[in-house]
Amino acid sequence: MNTEANQDWVARSLAAVWHPCTQMKHHERMPLVPIARGKGAWLFDPAGNRYLDAISSWWVNLFGHANADINQALKDQLDTLEHAMLAGCTHAPAVELAERLSALTQRTLGHAFFASDGASAVEIALKMSFHFWRNHGRTEKREFVCLANSYHGETIGALGVTDVAIFKDAYDPLIRHAHVVASPASVGEDEALAAMRTLFEQRAAQLSAVIVEPLVQCAAGMAMYDASYLTRLRALCDEFDIHLIADEIAVGCGRTGTFFACEQAGIWPDFLCLSKGISGGYLPLSIVLTRDAIYQAFYDDDFTRGFLHSHSYTGNPLACRAALATLDLFERDNVLAENRRKSALLREAFAWAKNLRQRGTIFAFDVDTQDPTFSRRFFANALKRELLMRPIGKTVYLMPPYTLSDDELVLLAQRTRDTLDATLAETA
Ligand SMILES: *Cc1c(COP(=O)(O)O)cnc(C)c1O
Repeated sequence: MNTEANQDWVARSLAAVWHPCTQMKHHERMPLVPIARGKGAWLFDPAGNRYLDAISSWWVNLFGHANADINQALKDQLDTLEHAMLAGCTHAPAVELAERLSALTQRTLGHAFFASDGASAVEIALKMSFHFWRNHGRTEKREFVCLANSYHGETIGALGVTDVAIFKDAYDPLIRHAHVVASPASVGEDEALAAMRTLFEQRAAQLSAVIVEPLVQCAAGMAMYDASYLTRLRALCDEFDIHLIADEIAVGCGRTGTFFACEQAGIWPDFLCLSKGISGGYLPLSIVLTRDAIYQAFYDDDFTRGFLHSHSYTGNPLACRAALATLDLFERDNVLAENRRKSALLREAFAWAKNLRQRGTIFAFDVDTQDPTFSRRFFANALKRELLMRPIGKTVYLMPPYTLSDDELVLLAQRTRDTLDATLAETA
């Protein structure tokens, strides 16, 4: 691992690159992995060492690195149109992607608004919800609701509906706080819904929208709950005239077993946020899908009743083309059915893990440790065993690319076990 080639990149990176979600001083002892190339589920460093990308490079990669089909689609697009603005202009990749996503919602969410990252998609949904009510003369509906331990991104607006102290506390004075209501993943479905109803009864006139991560609160440590919560929350939102925002940035695109996690609840939200996997893990892209009734509230001769939000790279053709190639793979390879088979194999291979929980291709278990350095030490020990894994606190999880082979899946399970044993032995 510590060849000269690697050390050079690491030293230059630590001098010039401020890495995300990192206490940089920890890199005095924690390894930084230089990545030279990728192929399938594997990443390679300049010295030729390989690492199985068991967490899909922060949950974005669906069909492996350097995927031949997505690469070809991007090369074709690159020679046709790399970018054009989406205000006043349009292009085939954005139109086709909006149409296909609409079709995947049976045309319920028939209007697509494009952005570049997940946090922006969340902010767009919040702004649209508020602006919808404003256009209807209900300016007092300006408060939002999120669940305990929710994560919806880290811009200042998105932090307002995020409830993860470590990302939020330092910026507390800057944040406009949402109401935080108990999560079904912690207190159970009935209690969580009762708490939501209590809040709705008190403040429905001021509430614009509720935002949730359907089925799995990923950043909270893969906290899982049942689809029936979403079905009942949808009914509650309808009863009190409050929007429902489904943040499917992590759980969408087949992660939980259906293309959209909401499908398992038999519901559609008023706004659905997509990002991460939608471009196959290739390019920054996010999309907010919404209903015609929302869209119509903005449709007017008056400019200011329109939704005047924009980002420079809105609807970037390359990113949209990568997304179209990703959707092609879902259709061509019968991905959701094949994922069910692989998930069953993974469950078997991880039979040793105590209290393993699973939704689709997300697997997690909590390790019985109080050591605050557990996650970092596990990461380092995993690298020695050719695995790229970053536990969230004491939660070890997998979110592998869908293209993992049966052999890779067995290797992943064995080496995760070895890594865990080695990490726990260090403190014993
Ligand atoms: C990652 C994530 C976001 C934020 O997306 P970024 O592209 O990192 O801004 C928002 N919500 C959920 C559920 C996420 O997992």
